[in-house]
Amino acid sequence: MPDNLSLESLSVILSIPLGLVVGSFLNVCIWRIPRDEGLAFPGSHCPQCNGLIAWYDNIPLASFVLLAGRCRRCKASIPWRYPLVEGLTAGLFLMTVLHFGFNIRTVFLLLFLSALVVITFIDLDHGIIPHMLSLPAIPIGLVASILTSDPSPIEAVTGALIGAGLVYLIAVYAEVALKQESMGGGDVNLLAMIGAFLGWRLMLVSFGFAVVFGACLSLGLIAAGVLSRKDRIPFGPFLALGAVIALFGGGRVIDWYVNLFR
Ligand SMILES: [Zn+2]
Repeated sequence: MPDNLSLESLSVILSIPLGLVVGSFLNVCIWRIPRDEGLAFPGSHCPQCNGLIAWYDNIPLASFVLLAGRCRRCKASIPWRYPLVEGLTAGLFLMTVLHFGFNIRTVFLLLFLSALVVITFIDLDHGIIPHMLSLPAIPIGLVASILTSDPSPIEAVTGALIGAGLVYLIAVYAEVALKQESMGGGDVNLLAMIGAFLGWRLMLVSFGFAVVFGACLSLGLIAAGVLSRKDRIPFGPFLALGAVIALFGGGRVIDWYVNLFR
């Protein structure tokens, strides 16, 4: 049996290739889930020439570099998104193992972060958050809280309920009072999922960051003339970003906030 230290450093080293391989699978999910295609079959193929992609052309990051970002058969360019998602996932996995160590909670957090990556890019592409991703994630988050007590099951349940209720009330208010579509049902599920995994406190921190980032970027893009007031900006990516910040730095934000009232 390896002692704790070497197991810990081994998990840190392995988190990067694991993240790259999972990220490669997340790319498949991002492309296929909104198109109602199966995840396992058929094998990876080029969307341009439909040719099957051999395993040696499907190695995360490395193949993109070796093929100079082009399909081996038809030379269609491979979107930079593919290596980006792989690198992003590897980075998130590494951060999680470094920050939380090697334990059962880390396994659940890797699942949670993987779901956030898929949701972010599907929402950016299609303006939807598939229920098949966010809904099953809520009970998985609650099970994680029972197994790890971090957050406690009570905090996880209240996190899911308050998260769903918060987005729902804002969406109804925006529709009734402002006659404007703001957040949708997908965002309700997403914040409920964040609450289930992180508990109600970090869920609120996630939401706060999401609103600030979302407002700044929207106003910036409108000011720059890239967007008009009528354009709907997907809110899911901001919630996901907020959740990542809350997960790794939220404790400090809560301490700072509580200290304001001391
Ligand atoms: Zn091709």
